[in-house]
Amino acid sequence: MATDTATLEPTGSTPATGENLLIDPYDRHVSYLRVSVTDRCDFRCVYCMSENMTFLPKSDVLSLEELDRLCSAFVTRGVRKLRISGGEPLVRRDIMWLFERLGRHLVTGALEELTLTTNGSQLERYATALYAAGVRRVNVSIDTLDPHKFGLITRWGKLDKVIGGIEAAAAAGLKIKINAVALKGVNDDEIHDLVSWCGERGFDLTFIEVMPLGEIGGEARLDQYWPLSMVRAELKKQWTLNDIDDTTGGPARYVRVAETGGRIGFITPMTHNFCESCNRVRLTCTGTLYMCLGQEDAADLRAPLRENDEPLLMNAIDEAIGRKPKGHDFIIDRRRASPSVSRHMSVTGG
Ligand code: SAM
Ligand code: SF4
Repeated sequence: MATDTATLEPTGSTPATGENLLIDPYDRHVSYLRVSVTDRCDFRCVYCMSENMTFLPKSDVLSLEELDRLCSAFVTRGVRKLRISGGEPLVRRDIMWLFERLGRHLVTGALEELTLTTNGSQLERYATALYAAGVRRVNVSIDTLDPHKFGLITRWGKLDKVIGGIEAAAAAGLKIKINAVALKGVNDDEIHDLVSWCGERGFDLTFIEVMPLGEIGGEARLDQYWPLSMVRAELKKQWTLNDIDDTTGGPARYVRVAETGGRIGFITPMTHNFCESCNRVRLTCTGTLYMCLGQEDAADLRAPLRENDEPLLMNAIDEAIGRKPKGHDFIIDRRRASPSVSRHMSVTGG
């Protein structure tokens, strides 16, 4: 079990009311927190990390108790959805303890949903425990159904292990959404297969555009970038896509595939302006809060958390939400070799 020096009981027992909700300067209610519980990963996906990553020293990373206290503080302020991400969240030691702790907010009804984004490598081991903790949906990232290509994209991953994890998750009763990053010249010949594969299994599917986050070594993002408008046009050649107006307040737009009944989401941060309905903020494993995925501005919550002074922490959260920007400015530009945001996706958890 992880330990820390905190003496305060985790917060989160007092439900949010109209007065203590987190409302940003543009009148958006922040109700969704994504938490990266580790920057480490057992894969090295080419668009996400370089092969030789330097990870944070363990002393900088919040303990699981601290993560619980911080997440719970957000729940008391009206956050209704928590998504645990990473790096790879399921490689963090004793991670199930955090899911079980956070599950208490589902029991009280303070939290509506506790979810997870994972590469699936450890799902076989944890699927049942996740369900028991109250998780009902998981997002599993899988960009290709070809084992060889999967090895090339993830560098260290094994497709059969991930598929085994997905099957275990489905058997445990978890609803599954597959995340696939659209990569020109890599999986552009497979998008129809992904739609059929997900449709047959009752999985939702989301395509994601490559975002310019963090240095990734040799691969050039400009070469990988494949706008989802083109993915959609390609899909339309084979499938009937009916727009549906499901919205999560995030950057995904959805269609229903008439032939399979399945749902496809398109996450288009580069080509679509979704910021006006943004309801989310992102917390790193060091307690840094990013108010926007596409901006560098951040607030340190670790220092006030470690002071064990709840009003101080709440003030820091309020101050941060008061700085949530109107929108992002991602650019993948031929004139700019460097990423427009320097941190990796594994820092803020996608
Ligand atoms: N390791 C877990 C996984 O792969 O699902 C969770 C963390 S990962 C950073 C979350 C999502 O971000 C994954 O679906 C991954 O494909 C996506 N991702 C990572 N880097 C990206 C980038 N530069 N552009 C777009 N999506 C990215
Ligand atoms: Fe790891 Fe997920 Fe990044 Fe791949 S996308 S390297 S699995 S954190």
